[in-house]
Amino acid sequence: MLFENLGLTAELLRAIREQGYTEPTPIQHQAIPLVLQGRDIMAGAQTGTGKTAGFTLPLLQRLGSDRRDNPPRAIRALVLAPTRELAAQVGDSIETYGRHLPHRATVIFGGVNINPQIERLRRGVDIVVATPGRLLDHARQQTIDLSGVEILVLDEADRMLDMGFIHDIRKILALLPERGQRQNLMFSATFSQEIRKLGATLLNQPELVEVASRNATVDRIEQVAHPVDKNRKRELLSHMIGSRNWQQVLVFTRTKHGANRLARQLGQDGLEATAIHGNKSQAARTRALTEFKNGAVRVLVATDIAARGLDIDQLPHVVNYELPNVPEDYIHRIGRTGRAGREGTAVSLVSGEEQKQLRDIERLIGCAVPREVLAGYEGGRGPARAEHADRPSERSAPSRQARRGKGNGRGRQNAERNGHPGRQLNGQRNGQLNGHRNGQQRRPGPTHGRNQVAPDREPVKSGYSALGDRLFMERDVD
Ligand code: AMP
Repeated sequence: MLFENLGLTAELLRAIREQGYTEPTPIQHQAIPLVLQGRDIMAGAQTGTGKTAGFTLPLLQRLGSDRRDNPPRAIRALVLAPTRELAAQVGDSIETYGRHLPHRATVIFGGVNINPQIERLRRGVDIVVATPGRLLDHARQQTIDLSGVEILVLDEADRMLDMGFIHDIRKILALLPERGQRQNLMFSATFSQEIRKLGATLLNQPELVEVASRNATVDRIEQVAHPVDKNRKRELLSHMIGSRNWQQVLVFTRTKHGANRLARQLGQDGLEATAIHGNKSQAARTRALTEFKNGAVRVLVATDIAARGLDIDQLPHVVNYELPNVPEDYIHRIGRTGRAGREGTAVSLVSGEEQKQLRDIERLIGCAVPREVLAGYEGGRGPARAEHADRPSERSAPSRQARRGKGNGRGRQNAERNGHPGRQLNGQRNGQLNGHRNGQQRRPGPTHGRNQVAPDREPVKSGYSALGDRLFMERDVD
């Protein structure tokens, strides 16, 4: 299947060609024709599947190729995203694919001066990509008019709910035309009860499009857990990076403070490292990411905020220095590797205290993460170790198949229990990109390409409540 067969206009096909893309990804293949027909869609697709172009391309086409004399502040298409990095990334895509079209787009998020945004809105834009909090600020100040929105996109809807944006979303929906008067596209990596409920309130007889289940996403990533004492993690990490000659490693910690400290310590061990998290200014985050991409920085230490929006081509190694408290975050973290059809490795350093978190993660992904004890670093085996971890075949030098976590065959069952519909609609099981651009298989090598930093979630303190976390997220992110 070629892009030419999807019904896209010459201007869009030209922009796609200039990007070097030849074939649509599964989500693009399925979503684009439906959106062009004016249908609402509920799409199950994660970052890395090409979902952004999946809605951006037909959205641009739906707006038409003539620039309407749109009254100032009146918006025709609204894309809501959970974090500023994701919003910026979507904004970039709109600019890229819309370069031969006359539409004007702008990105609106918090943490930066509102006045330039007001000025851009005043001059008139057709498409707004926004995080919910700052968008509502504009609505309150009447610097934006959402009453003429023709197309609404909710990107990473599950993440928005996780981050406590549901009330903001409801308020925003109330400012839009009636549901039947606009086209609605919702993208979510998971389908929980809440997501379905949200879909039921904002979508109009949607087509369900699904290309990758959670398990399919983690499938191509080689996962391993190394039991290790908490206070020896840093030593082990430095040792692994050095002895295995890893040149580009994304390391996750649970807290911002922990990220700063670890980056500092790795620096003392002679490894170029920098931290990226929600307390850093946008400029500092962008700089850290650029240095990581161009190889000036070998280790990027990130909190979960950075997990979702990071789009780094060919990122080979992700390390969970600490396991996340929220099991879903594990999937988002390790999804930073194995992108676009390539394989990657995800290593977790697991202390005795973290065994329960590891079991929760395994329950979610529906398979065992093979344990591998590294000589000299034995430890971290808490009393509550999962039974399957004691099987020698999984513990020592697991086969490639075992290391890929093909596990216990309970994936579908567990996925369903976790709210995933567990069936394929309209198509392929594995929706990740096939690794071809211009028909060429990419080889491992230095990083290049576009990438964005991003979403973060982290506990205010250990034992934080869901509510506390949400409040924190809203403050931190937007
Ligand atoms: P997304 O899932 O939208 O974050 O996209 C993941 C990555 O795939 C981005 O770097 C895109 O530029 C890239 N991409 C999107 N569509 C295609 C395509 N049809 N072929 C190859 N790469 C693509």
